[in-house]
Amino acid sequence: ADGRVAAAGAVGALLRDGVPLVLAQTRHGQLPYYDDGDVMGAFVGVPVMEGGHLRGLLCADRVAPFDDRDREMLASAADQIVRAVQSEHVFRAVERAKYEHERFYHASAMLCRALTLEQVTETAFEAAAQIIDYDAAVITLHDREARSHRVASVRVNPGAEHLLRADSLAGLEFRDNTGLASMVVKNRHYLTVGGEVRDVTAPVFTKKIKVHAESLLVLPLLSADEAIGTFTLTSRHKLRFGKDVREMLSIIANQVAVSLQNGMMYKKMEFMATTDGLTGLTNHRTFQDRFADLLERAGRHNYKSAMLLCDVDHFKKVNDTYGHPVGDEVLRRVARVLQDVARKIDITARYGGEEFAVVLEATDLDGAVLVAERIRSEVGKMQIESDKGPFQVTMSLGVAAFPDDSRERATLIERADHALYHAKESGRNRVVSYQAFVASRKARRAS
Ligand code: GH3
Ligand code: MG
Ligand code: MG
Repeated sequence: ADGRVAAAGAVGALLRDGVPLVLAQTRHGQLPYYDDGDVMGAFVGVPVMEGGHLRGLLCADRVAPFDDRDREMLASAADQIVRAVQSEHVFRAVERAKYEHERFYHASAMLCRALTLEQVTETAFEAAAQIIDYDAAVITLHDREARSHRVASVRVNPGAEHLLRADSLAGLEFRDNTGLASMVVKNRHYLTVGGEVRDVTAPVFTKKIKVHAESLLVLPLLSADEAIGTFTLTSRHKLRFGKDVREMLSIIANQVAVSLQNGMMYKKMEFMATTDGLTGLTNHRTFQDRFADLLERAGRHNYKSAMLLCDVDHFKKVNDTYGHPVGDEVLRRVARVLQDVARKIDITARYGGEEFAVVLEATDLDGAVLVAERIRSEVGKMQIESDKGPFQVTMSLGVAAFPDDSRERATLIERADHALYHAKESGRNRVVSYQAFVASRKARRAS
């Protein structure tokens, strides 16, 4: 036949009534699946039903008439057909799900390994690409206290530059507003355009930023019920972010949120573990590690370096006279001087109570003494406020040089300490190098 069977005759009756039909003898044209209307005979037909819906008809004809058993056999064949089609559907869905789950699992695993903000956002863009073809993606972070949002990362895939201009978005900060990103953070619920919710015309980030897309999905980054930002995906194609895709992307978004929080926590803990709480300088333990690395570099590349040990003069008196909190303030101010005078590559550390260490990379003894003098003079100029009026402090410094005084870290520290002791002995508020200390000792012995 031509594939279409007229809803006439026996077939028409079956379609209309949806119940099994047995005819002992059909008349002309009652078997419409034959082109020739003259084909006639006995007929049996049953509807193929699936969950109350008519899916098709199963018909047979022959010369000899059909009985009830034939009809029942045909009905059970119709059931078999339905089951076969259903299991084929399920099988295909399972296959597809397996494939999607694999990609999804892969995406999640990638996110778990990401530590820094950049790693997390990059991985998020990759992970989303495993799930759906999108044109552009944006991650924003929300600062609850400041009530503002910051665009943390943007990806515009090649060929989609006309949909979203990455340069207009990168680093953008905006306040809570009526845009979709703000709303998603506020409501902790996704918004979509070209998905199920249609015709949302509100801006996504700010009014100035134009997003041209047929489909748009803005997901909250949820971590412990708090929306810490948004993950936005856009596509030039319609209906890109259906329910299945959205559910997987939501889980990705929440993993992004957890990873980002882990990253922030990691950064904070790393900072706390390596930094002195009072002054913000490198703490003692980290100082030793960084000093060792620096000496290793200097030894390998064969350049000079130097270390300063700095100790506030008569600091006990400062505490006794002005109180411990004022003493703390002195330490903070001294730390600021060290940071201002030293370069970025140098190490400035709180060595102990009111002692500080500075390591100057690629600096010879003369250079180090100059830096030490500069620190001494700046500390001496500081005006410190107190209940008893403003006052000043002085500082003594010892200098040891690598590799001239020693190549060993412990020995260098010991020699800088000797020089510092000599600075204290010879009147405080001065800089003494280990070499000058040795020379004066020789001179004293000779006399
Ligand atoms: P010198 O000129 O010989 O260095 O005399 P000094 O009084 O500075 O020497 P000393 O090392 O005996 O005294 C250090 C004092 O620093 C003792 C201690 O109470 C105080 N100190 C150590 N850490 C802190 C701190 O974190 N805050 C304050 N306010 N004082 C501290
Ligand atoms: Mg001391
Ligand atoms: Mg002291």
